[in-house]
Amino acid sequence: MNPADNLSRRDFLKLGGVAAGMLATSGLVGSALAGENQTRPNILMVMVDTLRADHVGCYGYGSPTTPTIDALAKEGMRFENAFSASSWTTPSVMSAFTSLLPREHGVVDTTRTLPGKVTTLAGQLRQHGYHTCAVLCNPCASAKMGFDSGFDVYDDFTILLNTELNVFDVMGESGQRSINTVTTSREIADLSLKYLRQSPDNKPWFMFVLLFDPHADYVPPRRYARMFDTGYHGKASGQVYGLGGNCQTIQWPDKADRDHVISLYNGEIRYADDELGRFLQLAKAEKLLNDNTLMVVTADHGEEFNEHGGSTHGHSLYEELVRIPLVMRWPGRIPAGKVCPAQVQSIDLAPTLLSLIGAPAAQGFGGRDLSPLLNGSGTLDREKIMLHTHLNQGVAAVRTPQLKVIEQLGSGEVSGFDLRNDPLEQEPLAGEALRQHAQLAPLAAELVKWNSEAATAFSKRKAEHKAKPQLTAQQIKALKAMGYVH
Ligand SMILES: [Zn+2]
Repeated sequence: MNPADNLSRRDFLKLGGVAAGMLATSGLVGSALAGENQTRPNILMVMVDTLRADHVGCYGYGSPTTPTIDALAKEGMRFENAFSASSWTTPSVMSAFTSLLPREHGVVDTTRTLPGKVTTLAGQLRQHGYHTCAVLCNPCASAKMGFDSGFDVYDDFTILLNTELNVFDVMGESGQRSINTVTTSREIADLSLKYLRQSPDNKPWFMFVLLFDPHADYVPPRRYARMFDTGYHGKASGQVYGLGGNCQTIQWPDKADRDHVISLYNGEIRYADDELGRFLQLAKAEKLLNDNTLMVVTADHGEEFNEHGGSTHGHSLYEELVRIPLVMRWPGRIPAGKVCPAQVQSIDLAPTLLSLIGAPAAQGFGGRDLSPLLNGSGTLDREKIMLHTHLNQGVAAVRTPQLKVIEQLGSGEVSGFDLRNDPLEQEPLAGEALRQHAQLAPLAAELVKWNSEAATAFSKRKAEHKAKPQLTAQQIKALKAMGYVH
């Protein structure tokens, strides 16, 4: 170990609470499913950070960004209209883990922790005899905030330590490399493989893998940097955090510059997708994966490239930030090559996975069981989904398959969109035009009421989400620069 490793490790452990995620105690209890270990599927949930649905090949993107995900979609079911619960990592991933909306689970930003009593997908699977493991390197889903709840192994540290990163030094101000300026998909894939090899033989496993690379900065490996843009000679860089100020306000007025930045983002998507493909191939070759593996591929949120005057994510709830890919594959149990048009949300994943393995529904989950959609036996009894981000003074939205209303919680400004003729949300209806719209007006009233109730309930439970903030002034400064802390 070199001195830099020592320094990183010491700095890292100083953050506190991390060690809790290294060896979460196993709370295995007997269940009705005990004894069925041989037939229950292993479950692999792969989340690609910052992957907007419309940059995925099987969702219609024109460039070959995602051959691996496209192949999985051919062998499974693709949800055409899948949405996250928020527009950045912390609340979104926690919503997928808890089947609750951000203000319900309470981890609306990086200063809060998940109350221990909240039911999680991993906790439920562990109760039903699963070995539960997670591999990631995004500090916004750290064990410090309770993301490790229910996991036997929650490895959010190895990649950061091995790459000699100072975990919260996102701006690289300490002179060390920042997590945003290196690629990590290869390391995530290799580490995931290592943990699969170590899974106990007598239990099915649940593995959660978060591939970080499409997240800004957009700095793909050399081979991928020009893959989607061979003719650019300008000066725009994919290192958006190096441009100063809040990266969420960066604009690229020149189309060639913007296209170049997007091509670098695409390069990172392709790199993550290729590493996913390599991981699946190696795992299959070692017989760690077989057809009795229930696979989910999705994202935590999308990314903006100035569609609504901003960049990166977290600050708004427009489609480019909340529409995510969702593919589920389980040969023989989920039909191959089907596309489901229903509007679904990441909070639906936990109840769906439990239902698919035959476990009883968990108390406290807010999402829907999608298995009737997967086997064609039913429809979804939900017309609307709700979205929320705590950043940018708070933004909330309600979406139906045809309509969407967004409320800026800071200013109280409400705007509506008829997605049937304005799918890119370029023509907001506000004021009198919104009040006069027969369908949007009641939806707007419902959103305002929901926000008021959710805010009251959230503030009543604030003490439960009290954090153990041990960030240094430099770490807080770095998170502020990214727009994650105000
Ligand atoms: Zn993210």
